Order: sequence, then structure tokens, then C-alpha cells
Amino acid sequence: AHDIARTFDVSAPWLNRVIERQPRLLLHAVDGVSFTIPRGQTLALVGESGCGKSTVARVLVGLYKPSRGHVHFAGKDVHETFASPPGRALRQHIQMIFQDPYASLNPRWKVEGIVGEPLVEHGLVTEKGALRDRVGELLQSVGLSPHDMVKYPHQFSGGQRQRISIARALATAPEFLVCDEPTSALDVSVQAQVLNIMKDLQRERGLTYLFISHNLAVVRHVSDQVGVMYLGRLVEVADKRTLFATPRHPYTRMLLDAIPQMHATGRARTPVQGEVPNPLSPPTGCAFHPRCPHANARCSAERPKLQTFEGIQVACHAVEERRI
Ligand code: SF4
Ligand code: MG
Repeated sequence: AHDIARTFDVSAPWLNRVIERQPRLLLHAVDGVSFTIPRGQTLALVGESGCGKSTVARVLVGLYKPSRGHVHFAGKDVHETFASPPGRALRQHIQMIFQDPYASLNPRWKVEGIVGEPLVEHGLVTEKGALRDRVGELLQSVGLSPHDMVKYPHQFSGGQRQRISIARALATAPEFLVCDEPTSALDVSVQAQVLNIMKDLQRERGLTYLFISHNLAVVRHVSDQVGVMYLGRLVEVADKRTLFATPRHPYTRMLLDAIPQMHATGRARTPVQGEVPNPLSPPTGCAFHPRCPHANARCSAERPKLQTFEGIQVACHAVEERRI
């Protein structure tokens, strides 16, 4: 409804059976995930590992194609556009930051080549001196020195390497960044520095983030909206304040209860119960029912739809029936 040209819009139903082949041949299916991120804001996707968060990220940046449904950026279908030559222009505006700054940087390249590559690839800078100037500016924007461009990735700490990844992602002046667990591989003390850089860059450049994390403390720090995923589906979407103050879905409550002092209900800390089931054979009905304290017969038979209750989207029969 609002300024569609400046939103990142994912329409449901989509991602029906997007299959991600991971090194151990684990398959992830993602289904019926739908959200819109207003420009300049951050939507965090949160959930335990194996819930399909990374699959969503890879579909958004065009690494995987959904078998059904659409991803729109600024009103254009991402996958149709990426496949055509003009798609390069769109691709410049959507970049990804990966979890592992050790694996995502080519160890044989100097930083100059790593950060400058997208500029060359997109034909944005052709002259060598101008390329160096631009790489130097990008390094400065993430708190590194232009002199760092002559070094190799192994000469940097984990936090510095993730700054290099961010500088590289920013090279094409994107509007939208998909960040898949960007600080999870870093020491806690370094995480906050990297998150603060990302927040500063967002403010300065009006960047829109999809921020994927399993860590609710990190999510609370960076997000405007939060989407909670369970086994490839969104189970709750709300603005951050509401989600942390009054979580509705039993799974969201379980995640929050596992963290000390996370919300103000006065409930004692309870560790997360049970494990995420095998995504290849998800439970019937509500996939969360084997772990849910509010499950009843309907829950194991019928899959709840994501519906809006008082401005929050929740997929839960007990919420719909006002049982909880
Ligand atoms: Fe629990 Fe039923 Fe709600 Fe699923 S639908 S979260 S099992 S109450
Ligand atoms: Mg992941």
C-alpha cells in the first residue's frame, strides 16, 4: 500500500518446496513465507537452525529459484529480472552478507581485489586509480584503513574480515542487504561492534536489511520487525516491541522464555524444550504440536494459517480460539 517502489515485497504463496541441498544432503523446504520490508528498516527472521532461514535468504538474492511464487524488489520480479541482462542493474541493489567471513573471502586475493570485484563486474569503475580510491572509501566506511587493501584476508581478525565482507557488499551501493547470521561466527565482544557498524550504515545510506539470526538478543538490538520461523513457515510476524513484550505464538514464547530477562512477564527462564523435527517428515497439522504445551486434537490434524490478530500475524489455533 505504501510506496511500493521502495519496498521489498515477498508475495505468498511462494517458495513451495524450495529445496536446499546442504553438504550433508539435508533438505530444507520453505512454504508460504510472505513479508514486506519498508525501505530503511530491518526485518529479522529468527528460529532454530534447520527452520529454513538461510533458504529464504538464498532465494531472495537469486541463488535459489522458488518453484512457485514471487520475490519482488521495487516492484520487479527478482528471478525474472535476474535471468535477463537488465537484471544486472537490479542485482546491484540486492547484496548478501554471509555468516562465515573466513569462507566467504577468497584467501588468494588482496582486499583490493575482493572489495573491488563487484565494481569491476558491474562496470561501475574501469580506471585503476578510481578503483583504488573507491575501495579505500569503502574500507573507511566500515572502520578500516585504505592501507588495508594491500593485505590478504588471513592478516585480519574475524571481526575485521566481516567488515571487509560488508565493504564488498556495499561496493555497488545496494539498497537491500540480506544478512545471514552475519555475526554468529564472531566473539561476543566483536559482535556488537559489527552490529553497530551495520546500524550506522543503515542510517547513513537508508539501507533495508533482512537480518537472519537464531539469537534473540541480537535480533532485539537490530530489528524493526521480527518474523519467527518454524520448520520452513512463518509462525509469527510483529513489530519488535510488540513481539518482545507480548509474544503470541507458543514457539515465540518458548524462545523468549529460554533467555534471561528477555521480556517482562516475570516468568522464570525455561530452556527450549524438545528439538526441531526432521524437515523431510514434518509433523501433521501444526508442525509445532509435538513441542507445544497448548496443543489439542485440532492442532495435530489441521495446519493453522497465518492470520492477523490485533496487528500481529500469528499462525496458531489456540490464539484464534482465544485459548491463550
Ligand atoms: Fe500449539 Fe496448536 Fe498453536 Fe500449534 S496451533 S502452536 S500446537 S496451540
Ligand atoms: Mg543458516
